Amino acid sequence: KKPILEVKGLKKHFASKRGWFRPASSIQAVSGITLTVYEGETLSIVGESGCGKSTTGRCLLRLLEPTAGEIRYRGKDLTKLTGKEMRAMRSQLQMVFQDPFATLNPKLTIRRILEEPLIAQKVAKEKWSSLIEETIRVVGLHPSQLDRYPHQFSGGQRQRIGIARALMLRPALIVADEPVSALDVSIQSQILNLLQDLQERFGMTYIFISHDLGVVEHISDRVAVMYLGEIVELASKEELFRNPLHPYTRALISAIPVTDPDEKKERIILQGDLPSPANPPKGCRFHPRCQSCMDICRTKVPAETMVNGQMVKCHLYS
Ligand code: SF4
Ligand code: MG
Repeated sequence: KKPILEVKGLKKHFASKRGWFRPASSIQAVSGITLTVYEGETLSIVGESGCGKSTTGRCLLRLLEPTAGEIRYRGKDLTKLTGKEMRAMRSQLQMVFQDPFATLNPKLTIRRILEEPLIAQKVAKEKWSSLIEETIRVVGLHPSQLDRYPHQFSGGQRQRIGIARALMLRPALIVADEPVSALDVSIQSQILNLLQDLQERFGMTYIFISHDLGVVEHISDRVAVMYLGEIVELASKEELFRNPLHPYTRALISAIPVTDPDEKKERIILQGDLPSPANPPKGCRFHPRCQSCMDICRTKVPAETMVNGQMVKCHLYS
């Protein structure tokens, strides 16, 4: 397995406004993520909303400037590139968003929308129409639909257009941020299957961001579980679902609805809400909500521990 993206100590802090009762401070949306993504795989990042997974995805492509850390894409640290070098890199690194409607310009036809990345990367004009027609077909639409506008399409079709736009330059890596969460369940699996077909066809690597473990189980090779800006567990999909180690992962998995009514499953209820990343709990950040919390958890940050090839950040294993 060859690494395509090697991330070390990635941090993103946002300045928070000072208020009456609150001095100016900084919110650690992402607090030190280290992981390696391999060529051709789908690595999912899963967690509750507000855990920092979207911020992580955007920092990985430098759509947001990271506060600290290294992001090596095929050996090159993206954080060290100039704006111009980074723009040239964009053809290889693309993003698919949750709500394509919000990111598709309503005044442009689909053809114009698909031309934009070609213009930005200075692709020769004589290649445009064949590239656009090939791409619209591989996402399951027809070239006769190219002269329509985004509002003339259904949600699922719009996501196909969003995917086509990301595919135009035949990227090596796509970060997909909740690409099916805005869609009806019946459409979700069509789009997930499309993403899988495209991955095989073009040999792409995916970083797939989702709060929905059912979706993650469908599409991933490996899964990173995020909690309050940190990765608390990272494992192959099979291991993670068969043998979740971190109490947070266990709670998330126990909350997936069972499809087989005979299957008995004990649901672990998470206590309380996700704490504010402006003021994360001391020690293990999960401790106020953890059923297995021990004394040490309140004061000492757990180290990343390897258990049979599975990474877990929890005192139960150190
Ligand atoms: Fe729970 Fe302690 Fe593990 Fe944190 S370190 S998840 S509080 S057992
Ligand atoms: Mg998000």
